[in-house]
Amino acid sequence: MSYMPCKGRYDTMKYNFCGSSGLKLSAISLGLWHNFGDINSYENSRSMIRRAFDLGITHFDLANNYGPPPGSAEETFGRIVRDDFKAYRDEMMISTKAGYTMWPGPYGDFGSKKYLFASLDQSLKRMGLDYVDIFYHHRPDPETPLEETMRTLDLIVRQGKALYVGISNYKPDQAKKAFGILKNLGTPCLIHQPRYSMLDRWVEDGLLDLLEDNGVGCIAFSPLGKGVLTNRYLHGIPEDSRVASQSTFLNSKDITENLISKVIMLNQIAEKRQQSMAQMALAWVLRKKQMTSVLIGASKSSQIDDCVGALAHLDFCSEELEQIDNILKK
Ligand code: NDP
Repeated sequence: MSYMPCKGRYDTMKYNFCGSSGLKLSAISLGLWHNFGDINSYENSRSMIRRAFDLGITHFDLANNYGPPPGSAEETFGRIVRDDFKAYRDEMMISTKAGYTMWPGPYGDFGSKKYLFASLDQSLKRMGLDYVDIFYHHRPDPETPLEETMRTLDLIVRQGKALYVGISNYKPDQAKKAFGILKNLGTPCLIHQPRYSMLDRWVEDGLLDLLEDNGVGCIAFSPLGKGVLTNRYLHGIPEDSRVASQSTFLNSKDITENLISKVIMLNQIAEKRQQSMAQMALAWVLRKKQMTSVLIGASKSSQIDDCVGALAHLDFCSEELEQIDNILKK
């Protein structure tokens, strides 16, 4: 059946300016790290992208290596765009990245010009796109001069292969240097993509202030702690969960008794707020004024509905924040 997006899709979603740029992103974005590979059902992946778009999510985040196998999430997404979204490309913000291992040899990893150029060309082919909206350097490279990596990002924009550029996983000192180089080149860094959730608060230690000072937006990845900060593991490990899947990024050893006891207590606060655990975890990340968007993952459309519901109650009183801090310290 041909896809007709929901007419009211822009009515309830919140859109935030990305730093001091003129670009707005949906406050909730959808990432394709898991559940969009060759190993997953195409129809489920397709229905999640449709559902997200129907709910006003405009931003879809990919990387060269998402799958498995690496590259297959971009292929799946390309097929969905061809099948359903040809007429809506201008309503979508599509990002991809390079920086982690993608192919063997010295040119398939980290941050050289050789790697980033080749990788983006491959990504565009897999997705069947002429350009991406945001191209990221996925992680800092300890060996390649930062100037080389940033010059490559600048050139990619000048060539029209990306509209904006970003960096991911850069610590404040590295990020500050990258922002300076990009600014001098005339291609300001649009956005930084760090991990941030109740379980990992490193960005509060300098990065968020730096982003604000430099007018750079922030999109937090894994805001649900890869699924832990939800109701998923409150009663054991469900068969259809990330922990039970082939993913090497979350396994049963991570689901400790101490962690679940914290999530149970957090969930009690969420219930008092009349929110699901996932909704409160997202609202908590979005409480930071520097936060442009939270970048969620999902394995089913109903999770996306639930996550978008977070926008109905974003405020926290100081007592709630203190209670959350105390639980997280335990
Ligand atoms: P999350 O922390 O949002 O975890 C997503 C998982 O949480 C889902 O797969 C699902 O688990 C569970 N979930 C989601 N919504 C709900 C809900 N409402 N109720 C119950 N469970 C829910 O993020 P991810 O770790 O998936 O990362 C999100 C995105 O961030 C990635 O797709 C990618 O785009 C980006 N990313 C970037 C990185 C980088 O280095 N730049 C690194 C990692 C991610 P289940 O599958 O078990 O159902």
